Amino acid sequence: MTHPALHNKPQFEYSITSPNLTITVYDGSEGPIHDPTEFRRYEVKNARTCRTVILHTGFTTYLKLGGTLLECEDPHAFFEVLVGLTSGQIERIHNKLIRRCYACGRTNEGYWVNGYPGESIKLCLHCDAAMDYHFNEGAII
Ligand SMILES: [Zn+2]
Repeated sequence: MTHPALHNKPQFEYSITSPNLTITVYDGSEGPIHDPTEFRRYEVKNARTCRTVILHTGFTTYLKLGGTLLECEDPHAFFEVLVGLTSGQIERIHNKLIRRCYACGRTNEGYWVNGYPGESIKLCLHCDAAMDYHFNEGAII
């Protein structure tokens, strides 16, 4: 079984470290260069068992344990057996985290300030880092 080469480096990547698990989520694209498919890959390292489980969903969906491709009917279900979390649970953690302040990681709470005309910037409540940005073209026409 071969998999299409990855054309792009992961476009998005971060880690969640729980007591034993380090979860890294990768986004990128793969497949024919003229017709790429988005993929998302969950890489879960277990510090206690020293094993890494990878669930890749994109052009193809597959599951790997310690670098070995596992032949299984339902990669998502077996992922849950191996990791103890469903891909949906990781997705929810992921969604929560990507809305967090990248600078201090403490919260997704912020306050909006006005920049140039039409421009609003959301600043972190804790460290004032810019978290989000909106531009309203209507405001300057
Ligand atoms: Zn912050």
